[in-house]
Amino acid sequence: MDDKDKIAEAVDAYLRRTGYASIDLRCALFDMDGVLFDSMPRHAASWVRVMADNGIEFTEEDAYMNEGRTGASTIRMAMERCGRQMASDEEIKRIYAGKCDLFNAMGETRTIAGADKLAQAMRSMGLALSIVTGSAQQSLLQRIETAYPGLFDLDKIVTALDVRHGKPDPEPYIMGQKKMGASPWQTLVVENAPLGVEAANASGAFTVAINTGPLDGKVLIDRGADLLFGTMDEFRAALPELTRLTKTK
Ligand code: CA
Repeated sequence: MDDKDKIAEAVDAYLRRTGYASIDLRCALFDMDGVLFDSMPRHAASWVRVMADNGIEFTEEDAYMNEGRTGASTIRMAMERCGRQMASDEEIKRIYAGKCDLFNAMGETRTIAGADKLAQAMRSMGLALSIVTGSAQQSLLQRIETAYPGLFDLDKIVTALDVRHGKPDPEPYIMGQKKMGASPWQTLVVENAPLGVEAANASGAFTVAINTGPLDGKVLIDRGADLLFGTMDEFRAALPELTRLTKTK
């Protein structure tokens, strides 16, 4: 199946799944880690280390499979799974702060190849862009404007601090749509992680997964990605066809 057929089929399947009459793209919501910044290897390494330091079993694969959860939710999940007595909120904050310190000590994180060109192409199509992240990592949030100047509506970003229920709950993506004044059928999400895809799918948005990490791409389709690409450039090449099959303002 070539890209044109793949995209046409994805649009049809989306309309069947959601019951919406059409897709009329107005905005795109980007996830941050693994989509804008190549930060996941360092997140995974700092999670494994801080969990081990606190006697909690946690592997790199756990980090990728739980990517998108808030820090507190990740710690609670891992403690519960290994039968540890649940820590207090203060204890959880201390562990997450330790994880952030380890991450920050690893130096500046590179951007994901092609994410800037993809965002620029979407802006020139007339889409408004914002970010929905389960992270509260200030070192990355503060770098968005320097790494991606003028591309994202910074006052409409959703972070871990804004939501009660993090990914895989749809709340972050529903809040992102609200902040942008967009309905689900007007929203495209760019995600890289299983739980993020699950959250985006459940919010009703058209969900595109870019597999920038080590997991099998099948897991992203299984969690509800409408389209899957291996790189940002591959998705950017498919944008004209997606635009042709959907209306944009
Ligand atoms: Ca991510």
